[in-house]
This record gives sequence, C-alpha cells and structure tokens, in this order.
Amino acid sequence: MSVLLESLIELIRRSSAEIPDDVNEALVRSLESEKKGTIAESAMRIIERNIELAKRKSQPICQDTGSVIFYVTCPVHFDTVTFEEVAREAVKEATRKGFLRQNSVDSITGKNDGTNLGPGSPTVHFHQHRGAATEVRLVLKGGGCENVGAQYSLPQETLHANRDLDGCRRVILDAVLQAQGKGCGPGVLGVCIGGDRATGYEFSKQQFLRLLGDRNPNPTLDALEQDILKTANDLGIGPMGFGGRTTLLGVKICAANRVPASYFVSVSYMCWAFRRQGIELDAASRISRWLY
Ligand code: SF4
Repeated sequence: MSVLLESLIELIRRSSAEIPDDVNEALVRSLESEKKGTIAESAMRIIERNIELAKRKSQPICQDTGSVIFYVTCPVHFDTVTFEEVAREAVKEATRKGFLRQNSVDSITGKNDGTNLGPGSPTVHFHQHRGAATEVRLVLKGGGCENVGAQYSLPQETLHANRDLDGCRRVILDAVLQAQGKGCGPGVLGVCIGGDRATGYEFSKQQFLRLLGDRNPNPTLDALEQDILKTANDLGIGPMGFGGRTTLLGVKICAANRVPASYFVSVSYMCWAFRRQGIELDAASRISRWLY
C-alpha cells in the first residue's frame, strides 16, 4: 500500500469517526446552555454520547457517512491525476473497512455497487499555490442536511427581501426556519452572497473549512454572521427542532462577485455530525500535521 493511500485512509477514518475539536467544543457549550430536564438537553446528551462512542470504537458518527468531498491545496506541478486515483482507491478501501458506509448510488439505475465510487464520488477540488505545502481537507456531507440547503434569487417578494444586506439576512433566516425539525440540528450555516448558481453553492460549502470560532475579516460579513447566529438561536427551534436555545452552532458567510442581472444567496446547512478534518503531507506523503 502506498504511503499516500495510507494517509488518505487515515484521514477518512478520522473524519468519519471524530468530530473536530472546534465543533465538539461548540456542542459541549450548547449542551451546558440548554435547560436541565428539557427534551433539548436530552437530545444534546444523545448527540454527546454518539460522538464519544464513535470516537472510542472508531466507527462512523452517523449511519449516513455523506458525500465525500476533498479539498487539496498543493504546489504548482503537483500530480493531480495520481492524487485523484489514490483518493478513489482510499475511498474504496475505507468503505471496505467500514469507515464509510456503502452510501453512493447510481442516480439512473438506483444501483449501489458498494464501493462509494462513481461520477462525482468522491469529489476532489484542487487549489494550486506557490508554497511548498500540500494540505488535504475532507468534508463528509450528510444527505439530510444537504436536503435543507437553499438558494435564493433576490429580490424575493414574499420575504420582502431586496438586493441588499437586509434582503440577504431575510432569506438566510428563512432557510433556518424552513430547516427546523429537519437536517439534524443544531447545525452550521455556510453562506455565499453572489456568484452564479454553481459557484454560489460551491463557495457556501467551502465556508465549512473555516474554524467555528474564527471571525470574518470583513467587518460587514462578520456583523451579519454574529447577527444571524444570535437571531437564529433566539427563535427557540433548538436541537432537532425540539425547542431550546441552540438552533445553530455557527454561521460562516462569504461573498463572490456577481453579474448585475443576478443576485443569489446560497445557503448550505451542516448537521451536528459536522465531519471535517485535514492533514498536511510531508514530501513522502506521510501525515506531518493535523489541521483541525
Ligand atoms: S443529516 Fe447529519 S446527523 Fe442527520 S442523518 Fe444525515 S449525516 Fe446523520
């Protein structure tokens, strides 16, 4: 087995079985904030037990191990073809070992060949840079939370949402309301203001690579993130929609340029089973550092 293959299988195993520290800390804080003896508190306790058990037994945190999405930051001249071949092999082997559930279905025939391989599965995004480091991040994106993602084309008359920041705020909060009781909250929102339909969703998902506790360097977007987080948590939707103080664990927003004719707001939703890990590879493709 090649060193790169071993490194990627370990990345998949850990991503599937362990919640990253920043998300775990946010979950613990929200458990402490829920009122004792409420359904919200017991929902959070069940989530906490699931996380502890999965880590101890090195088993998937959720039976839906999600869409497998790699983000690779690599030097110029990096061999992306070989990387993608090895990534596919790693997904197949991780599935065989039970780190990933057999979760990928042919959309036309409905057949599941049990390998998790097929068009778009896994997805690998490459971003070249002029540095020497190679970093591989992995997001396992559950289907239930993917179903409650939403894309709005502003203006939206029914929501009184115009093509401005207040309009963005209205549609983002609408997405939170529509997701209540679905998508396995408490969740995290990744949002992109602008772009086209495809890049809007793509950029919104990339927000999940940010640490939950970071602050947006753009003061306008930072204020919007804090505002949406507070407002959503004041709605009382709570964990799993059972009522309570924690509806969202975090909100991450970016902006992309748009053409004057369009104004999209793309909202991706990540469930409490927020699986995201990352590794830095050394020259021999060994894991030299964990990124989260
Ligand atoms: S939405 Fe998340 S927690 Fe719910 S079933 Fe899917 S992966 Fe699991």
